[in-house]
Amino acid sequence: MNTEQIDVLVIGAGPAGSIAAAMVQKAGLSVRVVEREKFPRFVIGESLLPRCMEVLEDAGLLDAVKAKNFQQKFGAKFMRGEDIFDFNFTEQFTQGWTWTWQVPRADFDQTLIAEVQRRGVPVSFETTVTGITFRDDESSVTTVTHADGSTEQLSARFVIDASGYGRVIPRLFNLDKPSSLDPRKAVFAHVHDIHRHEFDEPNRIVVVMYAPGVWVWIIPVSPTVTSMGFVGSFDFFHSTPGDLATQYKTLIQAHPYLQKRFGDAPWVFEPRKLEAWSGTTTSFFGKGYVLTGNVTEFLDPIFSSGVMFATVSSHRAATLAVRKLKGEAVDWEKEYTGVLQQGVDTFRTYVMAWYDGTLEKIFFSKNPDPRIKAQICSVLAGYVWDEENPFVRDHRGSLERLAKLIDLQQRLMSLN
Ligand code: FAD
Repeated sequence: MNTEQIDVLVIGAGPAGSIAAAMVQKAGLSVRVVEREKFPRFVIGESLLPRCMEVLEDAGLLDAVKAKNFQQKFGAKFMRGEDIFDFNFTEQFTQGWTWTWQVPRADFDQTLIAEVQRRGVPVSFETTVTGITFRDDESSVTTVTHADGSTEQLSARFVIDASGYGRVIPRLFNLDKPSSLDPRKAVFAHVHDIHRHEFDEPNRIVVVMYAPGVWVWIIPVSPTVTSMGFVGSFDFFHSTPGDLATQYKTLIQAHPYLQKRFGDAPWVFEPRKLEAWSGTTTSFFGKGYVLTGNVTEFLDPIFSSGVMFATVSSHRAATLAVRKLKGEAVDWEKEYTGVLQQGVDTFRTYVMAWYDGTLEKIFFSKNPDPRIKAQICSVLAGYVWDEENPFVRDHRGSLERLAKLIDLQQRLMSLN
């Protein structure tokens, strides 16, 4: 059996894996990517956040994505019946990118990894990691199985696990930890958005509040195709009879806006489901490895934070790994887990505030303060490390105080 020697082995060729590989290669170290699937492969998660753009740029991958002319995204719109609350990324507190993209992920992920390959990084598709042994000096030997059943051993000085829902290292070493969030389910499809021009402009994600705790994403991913999915509790979907296709149709027909826009829209593919996606691990790093992207923690799709966290965490992880391999000391707890956890915790507060009704109160309050709206907009753009923003620095307290103020204002108005 061959044993190849490399500086960094990256597991997974999603956005997290591509960013990690690009950063290691940029630093002049040897890197190899192994990916279980044949690309392009389908994955859900089409709506990006502006904070991704900085990472794509620094990793040298932005131009390759720009060349694809994906659907541009300028903001997010929340709809509750006739009530609408619109965020425009140009009206933000944090100085950063004011736009990003909505992408068919198969194409986006393929673009990133193809650019990484074009720069000379070897990528093995249909190659699954089946085992890893870490040595005392923190180097490792990873066993991979190729599509033809043959195996290979890869000797690396460091491993970056970017395997997404595959969760390779947490599964191999029993590091999985349940999420603090309730398990939820999504039923979704891509549809030919034949009525889009009658309803909306395509450059934003639309989030429809469907029923308490149930919401819908509408993400135009090309001039004609839109990703549309329902998210709710398991009980909600149990109470909707039929198979996935019947449920999807029934839920569309039961909502006036969805019925008019998508009632007769042909599907690009039959509805699919995903469930209980939230999860985390006991540690984001260990001797000889670091976890990035979805492997660390995926919260909830409501604010489209998945690819942002995947890219930002991988960028940081790879930068630290390079420093370590070049002989510098790295405080992984402080410089990686601490930083990442702050962003995750901020988004967790917003996810919980979404499901407990606090954000609904804030979003649909009368005459929102533009300064506060800009601060919240920056969180929703992914700038969750900007401590100048009070809605980041004291995320929970700021949202709670604002919701109480809105309650008070409403009570005063009802007295007048
Ligand atoms: P992935 O993109 O999953 O890539 C991991 C790769 O690792 C895969 O290609 C896999 O094949 C490979 N792999 C796995 N196991 C192995 C193994 N043993 N050996 C080798 N390779 C392996 N995010 C957003 O940003 N915007 C959204 O609108 C959004 N919507 C979502 C909707 C739903 C319902 C859900 C559940 C998630 C959504 N997400 C969204 C989250 C998004 O899908 C993920 O956060 C994102 O794909 C994470 O990227 P990644 O690179 O970490 O992992």
